Amino acid sequence: MARSYVAEARRRVGPKRARIGPIIARLASAHPDATIALAFRNELELLVAVMLSAQTTDVNVNRVTASLFEKYTRPEDYLAVPQAELERDIFATGFFRQKAKSLRGTMAMLLEQFDGRVPRTVDELERLPGVGRKTANVVAAELGNAQGIVVDTHVRRLSQRLGLTRQEDPEKIERDLMRIVPRDEWARFPHLLIWHGRRVCIARRPLCEDCVVCDLCPSSRV
Ligand code: SF4
Repeated sequence: MARSYVAEARRRVGPKRARIGPIIARLASAHPDATIALAFRNELELLVAVMLSAQTTDVNVNRVTASLFEKYTRPEDYLAVPQAELERDIFATGFFRQKAKSLRGTMAMLLEQFDGRVPRTVDELERLPGVGRKTANVVAAELGNAQGIVVDTHVRRLSQRLGLTRQEDPEKIERDLMRIVPRDEWARFPHLLIWHGRRVCIARRPLCEDCVVCDLCPSSRV
């Protein structure tokens, strides 16, 4: 019964390849301010902010990095202090021991293998200690070189509700999205879903009656 209801809803809205263009266009008009919420002034600050954002909110990271980025401006600065001092400086972002270790390992590798610069490709970024696929994708996209689509908790939930994927695993969801989202939208698309997920398609109580894509969504309640 439930399955036939879902199948009927999917039929009603039509194939995802036909829906993805209007979905992107409408979300872009509804959320023209949809960009990364982390504060940074250069590529090193971007990398550090994204690494610190694991398991915490962007607001929390911005609070910490406001003073952190005044004290640490070059990769060398993260290695010049004892690990305990760096741990204290990033304490409020949570998981501070692991994050301090990853930051120091990453800074050492940037200096040894990348001339102190942040690499551009996802493959190179993923080689940095403590940098996973999601962090690498976020950094590459912000540096203007998106090679995949960031899948966080909002992207996952909205992709599923919008009928763009049936997968649960972030890497499989990413693959599904890469097949239908035009490449020049790979950087912006996750921001659109993240902002729509925060403001309208909320996890516990989606506001379908206020949603600009409700006629394109098989999970719409209206
Ligand atoms: S119609 Fe409802 S479930 Fe679908 S995207 Fe909009 S808010 Fe989310």
